[in-house]
Amino acid sequence: EEARWERRAVIDLDAIGHNVRHVADLVAPAMVMAVVKADGYGHGALPVARTALESGATWLGVAHVSEALALREAGISAPMLAWLHTPGTDFAAAVESHVDLGISGWELEHVAAAARAAEQPARVHLKIDTGLGRNGATLEAWPDVLAAASQLQEEGLIRVVGVWTHLAVADEPDRPQTDHQLEAFRAAISAAEEAGFELELKHAANTPAALSRPDAHFDMVRLGLGMYGLSPFRDQDHEALSLRPAMTLSARVANAKEVPADQGVSYGLTYRTHSATTLALIPLGYADGVPRVAVDGPVQIAGQRHVSCGRVAMDQFVVDVGQVPARELVGTEAVLFGAHGPTATEWADAAGTINYEMVTRIGSRVPRVYT
Ligand code: PLP
Repeated sequence: EEARWERRAVIDLDAIGHNVRHVADLVAPAMVMAVVKADGYGHGALPVARTALESGATWLGVAHVSEALALREAGISAPMLAWLHTPGTDFAAAVESHVDLGISGWELEHVAAAARAAEQPARVHLKIDTGLGRNGATLEAWPDVLAAASQLQEEGLIRVVGVWTHLAVADEPDRPQTDHQLEAFRAAISAAEEAGFELELKHAANTPAALSRPDAHFDMVRLGLGMYGLSPFRDQDHEALSLRPAMTLSARVANAKEVPADQGVSYGLTYRTHSATTLALIPLGYADGVPRVAVDGPVQIAGQRHVSCGRVAMDQFVVDVGQVPARELVGTEAVLFGAHGPTATEWADAAGTINYEMVTRIGSRVPRVYT
């Protein structure tokens, strides 16, 4: 079995457990919501959810109700919040399945109708937009949203259990924007309390705020990236944050050959060998989530670091490995990123994106293997 794999993303659930425990200790008495949207940032929502809940997380967070329902169907009964809806969202299923709903305003009438049909109140977390400009009620609309929610709560159709917001620049601790957002958030909480709501849960922090802003912890932090062991900060790597990367992406070298100088490589021949060298073919391409735009993406083969050369194709790309005998290479493990060697953050830099995107975009053709 071990000998037969070709491509794989090894997911280290111990690392996830460690990361959750570490952040839970750091933010206590605030709770940890494990954010498992987008199939657990590409790591597998279900195994990540189970591990996180065993390791100190008490809530799960997802974007779509459909993601929450899939976890419920798999037997996960922990408190769960879903926060990105359209009029097509199955609010009735959410209410019946005890999935809490993040609400900006327009959803209230849909949620009330679903609650009426399900004959049970919907649990909602009212969202305030304190500056990110995405979901949430504007500061101006907040009093109206509170009034509408108050009315529905009196009718027994909803229960407002929380108020929350999302931060825009928590990964850049020097910017004053987070202070402004937290100030607006505290005002929105006061207004909700003055409107008579008894709020069990106030929450604002993502990973960077959980790690750097105790004043943003409130009752719960929503932990995504850090749970997967990656750093949200430019100037601090995962080790500096005591986090362990959970995903290791690798493939076995599919072909290797010795070529002369000036050999063009891959579509467009954008790379030419500088001297006689050996080229190793890696069977992962943009269909697997390796960014086509990556330049000099790091690859570790037999303990040696090399970089990608030429264009990444749909299924494969090439590494110029220098003076390595080709016959030794076929079948050798080539690691793109993981806990040891190159990191997802380095690949993100090579492709002009962020480590969040690197792990999330790894395609379904790459088997996830759990350890
Ligand atoms: N909260 C919300 C509303 C989110 O959309 C996300 C993910 O982007 C998170 C929390 C988790 O953020 P992070 O991965 O930085 O912890």
